[in-house]
Amino acid sequence: MKKNDQKNKQESCCQGKKAAGAVMKLLKETYPQAHCALVHRNALQLLVATILSAQCTDKRVNMVTPELFRRFPTAAALAAADPAELEQLIRSTGFFRNKAKNIGLAARRIVDQFGGEVPETMTELLTLAGVARKTANVVLYNAFGKNEGVVVDTHVGRTARRLGLSGERVPVKVERDLMALFPRQDWGMLSHYLIELGRDKCRAIKPRCGECALRPLCPYGQRGQSSESDRPETLS
Ligand code: SF4
Repeated sequence: MKKNDQKNKQESCCQGKKAAGAVMKLLKETYPQAHCALVHRNALQLLVATILSAQCTDKRVNMVTPELFRRFPTAAALAAADPAELEQLIRSTGFFRNKAKNIGLAARRIVDQFGGEVPETMTELLTLAGVARKTANVVLYNAFGKNEGVVVDTHVGRTARRLGLSGERVPVKVERDLMALFPRQDWGMLSHYLIELGRDKCRAIKPRCGECALRPLCPYGQRGQSSESDRPETLS
């Protein structure tokens, strides 16, 4: 990294732990209702729903999963599913061929290697097809109550940068910054709060800083939106 790049990064980033604590307090007060928006009854359903949520809204995923889970209620049923039927059921979530393939492969591995139960460790989850840290973090926190990392989707990345919590654009690096700033017990809820903030006020285009409760603590809101690009960000 060049010297100037490093200087710019240091200027745009980052809040210290004290400021992060104040951000967390305000997020808690502002979005007490924040929760996992993917409807699920168990870890397998959440795993499948999270795989489906790539490049797709949670709302769309929730429209597709009731019939999918009714038709294939277990990992064994998913592993034995006719790929064409699976593809048809999830078609509207986009990238359906790839998602169907990953769901089938992940279900097969869950049956063969984990006795039909979704594993509860990061290392094991990362061996499943279609599962990277984001999906594993979603499952570990929301299905098993484990804080192993921070879910970084497009909302979390954008809000974290604007709030000065990270200067990174790569999700794994944003996650590393957030894990360093916030205590472990807050990691799971932090992503729910930031997603809620991103959907409510801190939108990719034209964030509503004037109506945002976080503005007093937000470098981007204070500066008048001069550092983080307003260009649309893709869902992830
Ligand atoms: S003040 Fe603006 S940039 Fe900062 S969190 Fe709120 S909406 Fe986002």
